[in-house]
Amino acid sequence: MRIFVLGLDGAVKHLIDRPELPNLQKVIREGCLCDLISRPPITSVAWTSMVSGVNAGKHGIFGFRIGDKLNFSTEKKAKELWDYLPSIAINIPMTFPVRPIDGIMISGMMTPELYENSVYPASEMEYLKQIGFIFEPEIDLKSCGQSIDIKIELIKHYLDYNWELFFVVFREFDVIQHFFWGQDLPYYQKIDHFLDWLINEKNLFHDEQTSLLIVSDHGFAPVDKTFDLQEWINQNGYAKQVMVGGWGALYIKPETENEKQKIKKGLEENLKQIKYDGKPILDVYPREKIYWGPYAEKGPDIVVSPKRTLGFTFGMRTGKIIGASIHKNGCHLEEGVFAAWGPQIKELRDINREARVYDVMPTVLELAGKEVPKEVDGVNLLSY
Ligand SMILES: [Zn+2]
Repeated sequence: MRIFVLGLDGAVKHLIDRPELPNLQKVIREGCLCDLISRPPITSVAWTSMVSGVNAGKHGIFGFRIGDKLNFSTEKKAKELWDYLPSIAINIPMTFPVRPIDGIMISGMMTPELYENSVYPASEMEYLKQIGFIFEPEIDLKSCGQSIDIKIELIKHYLDYNWELFFVVFREFDVIQHFFWGQDLPYYQKIDHFLDWLINEKNLFHDEQTSLLIVSDHGFAPVDKTFDLQEWINQNGYAKQVMVGGWGALYIKPETENEKQKIKKGLEENLKQIKYDGKPILDVYPREKIYWGPYAEKGPDIVVSPKRTLGFTFGMRTGKIIGASIHKNGCHLEEGVFAAWGPQIKELRDINREARVYDVMPTVLELAGKEVPKEVDGVNLLSY
């Protein structure tokens, strides 16, 4: 069994299950669809869990940066799908620099402008330059549209290569939904037309030897307010004790273990008390609730996630604890999507368990007829 994984960064159920997207809807209705939980919903952490089957305490990627240092694939500690299957892996965040695999790898988000080490084998770079491949689209609808079109052309080019796993990520949807919320339909329609081509012209799934998975690393919701975490830390007397990392990561600076635990408890309680219209603004996760494994200690002491359901986003310095969200009008939700379609796929809609991003890797491995390694945290979603 071969598996084609269509990764749509930030896709959420109601955006892909629409009558204007008949092919996506057909696949979802005939196969299965469920929420895929991403906690915390951070792109770099979630895609790494998805391809390695483990939580960040085992793969070592807790965000785009550690302190002020950017994070790259060289920090990863866990085996990934392409270590088990001949693969074509395209544009997956946190795969720069690429490493040799049995197949082809084109890196994704966090790829610097210099093109070295962004493609394996390096000889493929010529083709990428020829078609004008975009590693990460600009914050611009035209650039996102072009990037999608070029990537579809590239997928078509590589489909006839030898692979058991074809894993591609369309990062464009994350960009579109962050900055152009509500204008996504024409871009999902590009995917829908491509799916039509895959199913009805290419006959990719015709021989019953290939399954389709559609996954996202988190969901999305509209936002209009922003919570300035650094400002809250400053105004509440924590500036000397606590460092704010990327996306809601809080590191308590080294004190004695006793002192650290005391600060952590107090901080956790205070963060939970922050309210807007009488409702708590933040989901607060102490490290031990979300990360376990040999590298968990390297993760943030506390991770906070703003409640998008109340319209809150993060990451902008406004100088006010709560301010208006100026540039972003959409932000990540924990509920992403998992959809599966193909000959081996059973009905999943009534599944009575929470599907997590790290379940994708064991699901792919078992579909491909491989054994799932013991250290993997996830389970095969299709066996439940
Ligand atoms: Zn994302």
